[in-house]
Amino acid sequence: MADARETRQLLASARVWLEELAEEGIDALPRLPGADASPVPANPEPSALTEATSSVTDTGWEETVSLDDVRERIGDCHRCRLCEARNQIVFGDGNPDADLMFVGEGPGADEDAQGLPFVGRAGQLLTGMIEKGLEIPRSQVYICNIVKCRPPKNRTPQEDEVQTCREFLDGQIAAVKPKVIVALGRPATSLLLGHPVSITRLRGQWQQYSDIPLMPTLHPAFVLRQYTAENRRNVWNDLKQALERSRAQ
Ligand code: URA
Repeated sequence: MADARETRQLLASARVWLEELAEEGIDALPRLPGADASPVPANPEPSALTEATSSVTDTGWEETVSLDDVRERIGDCHRCRLCEARNQIVFGDGNPDADLMFVGEGPGADEDAQGLPFVGRAGQLLTGMIEKGLEIPRSQVYICNIVKCRPPKNRTPQEDEVQTCREFLDGQIAAVKPKVIVALGRPATSLLLGHPVSITRLRGQWQQYSDIPLMPTLHPAFVLRQYTAENRRNVWNDLKQALERSRAQ
């Protein structure tokens, strides 16, 4: 039985998540299959919600791991249900020695078709911010996602999918060894920090993934949906800070 403190923590996490969804304009959630029928297990599997204190530093990858090693470990992955509808695995794109690494949520239709992350509308906005805003070629940074296969209808990846794929993201970070990580949106930030966050509250504030400084910012798809001067200015400030710190490290 969960004690009162644990219950309060779970409720606080659920509240943060619901506020976050409301901020993103999502006011209803799809019903999970069997959600009404299945009883809550007495000893549930640990999840990101309950593992707020779990270490994200000890990822088990060798210091010398390369991106090719990580891609090889993924293989023709069938570890989770996302393999069923994907056209291809979208591994990552860019400089294997990048100082700046961007982590998004998951491939969309364009990414699934081309095999490259962030090449659709949100990707064009991100590419513009990197190339026109930061004035560096996209090929100089490294870009990937927390899940490597397109979730059906671009839904948010589910917890088990994210957890199944996270070893590969950890491997990509271990291989690239960026000086700064930019986490794009709530799912990427929550995963990399090991606890659920409100991205609109946390964005712009330096965090840490292992010993790497991490800048949380709004996901470009969110900015496209809420294309306000404030959102654009905020993301621009976050990216500028990230670039400056990557150059100062
Ligand atoms: N959104 C993401 O999070 N990743 C992509 O690659 C494209 C859109």
